[in-house]
Amino acid sequence: MRVFLVNPSHVSFGIAVITPRWLYVLAAATPRSWGDPIVCDETLELFDPSIVEPGDVVGIGIHTGNALRGYEVGRVARSRGAHVVYGGIHATLFPDEPHENGGASAVVCGDGDVIWASVLDDCRSGQLKRQYDAGRVPPDQFLPARWDLLPAARYMWASVQTLRGCPKHCSFCSVWRTDGNAPRQRSVDDVVGEVVELRRMGFRFIALADDNFYPVTLADLAQAERRQNPERLHALEAMRAERFALMERLSRLPNDMVFYTQITMEAAEDVEFLKAMERARIRGALVGVESVTPEGLKDVYKDFNLAGDELVTRLQTFEQHGVHVLGSFIFGLPSDNPQTFDATAALAERARVTFAQFVMLTPFPGTVDFERWEREMAKEGRQIDGVPITRHWLIPQASRPKVYTPHPVMSADEIRRRTQGVWDQFYRLGAIWKRARVVRSLRGRLAFVLVSKLYRQMYANTGIATDSARVARSTQIARLIARPCRRLFAAAPMPDLQVPPA
Ligand code: SF4
Repeated sequence: MRVFLVNPSHVSFGIAVITPRWLYVLAAATPRSWGDPIVCDETLELFDPSIVEPGDVVGIGIHTGNALRGYEVGRVARSRGAHVVYGGIHATLFPDEPHENGGASAVVCGDGDVIWASVLDDCRSGQLKRQYDAGRVPPDQFLPARWDLLPAARYMWASVQTLRGCPKHCSFCSVWRTDGNAPRQRSVDDVVGEVVELRRMGFRFIALADDNFYPVTLADLAQAERRQNPERLHALEAMRAERFALMERLSRLPNDMVFYTQITMEAAEDVEFLKAMERARIRGALVGVESVTPEGLKDVYKDFNLAGDELVTRLQTFEQHGVHVLGSFIFGLPSDNPQTFDATAALAERARVTFAQFVMLTPFPGTVDFERWEREMAKEGRQIDGVPITRHWLIPQASRPKVYTPHPVMSADEIRRRTQGVWDQFYRLGAIWKRARVVRSLRGRLAFVLVSKLYRQMYANTGIATDSARVARSTQIARLIARPCRRLFAAAPMPDLQVPPA
């Protein structure tokens, strides 16, 4: 009996940007009595089901975007006599679906870190349950990943998680519902130990793959003080102190290391925090800007963000502290109009964001927006290939429409065309080269241009484009760019590197 872990994808690039952390965490959760799991990330290459034998266990982690491919893999594995176990956000939200569509033997809802060993025991004893409700595990039970199983020279960045959960409630995001509202923070020792292991292997670029790296804002502290709630204040201060302790330890790692994370814009008010990020060499952060207008921010329950000139200043504050921003913008909000696109492109340039992504408002399962959209669409009863549009991820790839939230004045096509236009404008060669000034060396600048182009090919063209020729062309271009890009990110291994003492 062997264990296979599969990260499904219908597009493979040969090289991937970031290590899919869940695969290696679940590998760590696999008891040694099972031997080393066989790990397959289909963003590199497709899984070969012919190697599966009766009695093997095939674990498949799915999110909405790769669920259908996951079901394909699961059905074949089940037909070969394997126990097929699904997990991940999508399986947690729709636990019956893998049984109906993917040949599931069992589904795990919630965090797999702790329950996986029991699931495997049940496979061995023939007592597998239909569903396991694992809930949210406390942070001291998060497992460090089995990076020793990582294939060599296939990833540009490694990923380490420092916390799960986010205290915000954005309407388009499922994180606060799936990972929870209360941030669960890992111990500094665990995080630093894993980072050191990765640097020993030759990874110097590491994504701190958190839902929100800034879980306690100055406003949260002020509110707890105003409400004279010492218990809450103490808990918040302790959480904040741990963030600083983590960044201090990171700052003592080799100085060629670069970290990247996701953060809310409020961090820019907190100069002390930004300075600590700078010392820790957290050189980049994805910041959810979403909209450049107050109306747009209200649309998505994100009015803690700023708009207009204040937004420009706030974003520039990150840059002044050496934290380069990947600004994330959403188009198709109810208050958007045709002028919003140019205004957003201009603001992104004025604010000097280093990278940007422009996404169309999409009702993702697990979000408030999805529930609203699902209710509306259910009234229409529209189906494609016999699948209700409200379950669009089950429609075969070739006939699956891109599903976006309907807009009061613009059609989906118009929003798509204008969104593509903003990507084109932001990622034109001249503009990229200008932004490449953030790095000094020629090698660094070259890396910057390649990564910008790769990012655009991987996300803009394959994500928004509806025409399959364009998607195929983009995949090919991304494959070509990915290889030299990876080399630019790799560093010489440091096998003797020690964990800096606390
Ligand atoms: S979008 Fe970001 S800030 Fe909003 S709930 Fe999700 S993780 Fe939190």
